[in-house]
Amino acid sequence: MGAVDPALLARLREIAGEAQVLTAPEDTIPYGFDGTAALKGPVGVVVLPGSTEEVAQVVRLAGERGLTVVTRGSGTGLSGGSVPSEGCIVLCLTRLDKVLEVDAANLTVRAQAGAITAAVDAAAARHGLFYPPDPGSMKISTIGGNVAENSGGLRGLKYGVTRDYVMGLEVVLPDGRVARFGNACVKDVAGYSMKDLFIGSEGTLGIITEVLLKVLPRPAARRTMLASYDRMEDAAQTVSDIIAAKIIPCTLEFLDQRTLRCVEAFAKVGLPTEAEALLLIETDGHPAAVADEAERIEQICRAQSALAVRRAASADEATRLATARRSAFSALARLRPTTILEDATVPRSELAKMIRFINETAARHQVEVATFGHFGDGNLHPTFLTDERNQEEMHRVEAAMKEIFDYALSLGGTLTGEHGVGLAKKAFLPRQLGDPTLELLRAIKRTLDPDGLLNPGKIFD
Ligand SMILES: Cc1cc2nc3c(=O)[nH]c(=O)nc-3n(C[C@H](O)[C@H](O)[C@H](O)COP(=O)(O)OP(=O)(O)OC[C@H]3O[C@@H](n4cnc5c(N)ncnc54)[C@H](O)[C@@H]3O)c2cc1C
Repeated sequence: MGAVDPALLARLREIAGEAQVLTAPEDTIPYGFDGTAALKGPVGVVVLPGSTEEVAQVVRLAGERGLTVVTRGSGTGLSGGSVPSEGCIVLCLTRLDKVLEVDAANLTVRAQAGAITAAVDAAAARHGLFYPPDPGSMKISTIGGNVAENSGGLRGLKYGVTRDYVMGLEVVLPDGRVARFGNACVKDVAGYSMKDLFIGSEGTLGIITEVLLKVLPRPAARRTMLASYDRMEDAAQTVSDIIAAKIIPCTLEFLDQRTLRCVEAFAKVGLPTEAEALLLIETDGHPAAVADEAERIEQICRAQSALAVRRAASADEATRLATARRSAFSALARLRPTTILEDATVPRSELAKMIRFINETAARHQVEVATFGHFGDGNLHPTFLTDERNQEEMHRVEAAMKEIFDYALSLGGTLTGEHGVGLAKKAFLPRQLGDPTLELLRAIKRTLDPDGLLNPGKIFD
């Protein structure tokens, strides 16, 4: 990585302020990677703008000098989306961290893109309102990163994903103009739905600076329970039976034995470590409906030979159990030097087949895999526990991963249910989308960003 042009640095400092432009390696190293194992890039300069106007000025400056811009929030991404490319300006939005307004009359929250996801929900909660999308990373991820990845969460089964809550966006376009899409109207069909193009665009089409989100009344009651099984098939069948009984829990999470043992060693919440599979189930809503649903769910679990069904005795215990589940990635990351977390996703009916295939494939390639995930959404996280310094082992991991992706696609699934394509999955994308669709994606990119300034080399080359 060569020295950054002093004239460029001077201009960036004029725009964002002296202290908000970083070049010393000890300051910039943390901006060279995200949460994805074995992916990093060179960082020359990091800019932390304090307003939309400053973002726009940086983008215009980059355009004048033919430099690329890689936007990032908290860098918790799991597909390498914010990994810098050679010679880029890293634009980090964490200073734009304000929740600007909670509008209880219109059920909306307006926030800057760098606001932390949990802070958005906390602001809504102060008005008795609720922002449902809750990625496992919600205490550190930014709302702009969530929109750019269209993130899911533990409550996706009942409440959907980030896209379902975005009503409006402020976006700095690749030429530095500021565009606004959407509004607080519940209905709006004026023109193409442009905001939807930017949701999930992984920093390749524009820089999101502000979001307008839909919020809901906070559920009055919540019940959390754990069901343990000695056969994974019974856990999968329980999920199908709950849905077939026309119950939509807000959370239906799965942990295999390796994950649950690891989580228990880490969080010490009394998980049944002898079980082969564990379901964490949560239902919310009106107290009477919640009580009725919890009762019926328990019956269904028992009918599917659950070893035990445990109901959280208090709100505190429920929070501890959900927090333990959120710690699955960190708990597994303690086992081996490198943790590769994938998010192969299949239609719910294919879950048991998919998990069996993951386990057989791991055994055949002699690699360690632990699996957990959002069972209710068919969204699995087969997690490879490996060591990137061991080339031979990494080849086996890659071969197993490719087979898992191919199998998920053959079941009508997708390479990624929530983490995005980024760098990590772009080699597999053509197989899922096919040429005509991929060409359409490229045409959209060329139209909005003809000079390829924003997040080059992500999603596709
Ligand atoms: C422990 C852990 C648990 C996780 N659990 C979940 C989960 O349950 N569900 C889930 O979906 N994901 C999960 N993730 C992945 C990750 O947290 C999400 O993808 C999150 O949305 C990333 O937010 P971020 O602020 O860290 O974005 P970053 O990682 O900084 O960036 C992600 C992508 O978005 C782009 N981007 C960021 N901000 C902007 C912006 N303002 N404008 C335009 N582009 C932007 C970047 O260029 C990059 O392509 C988890 C990650 C970890 C480490």
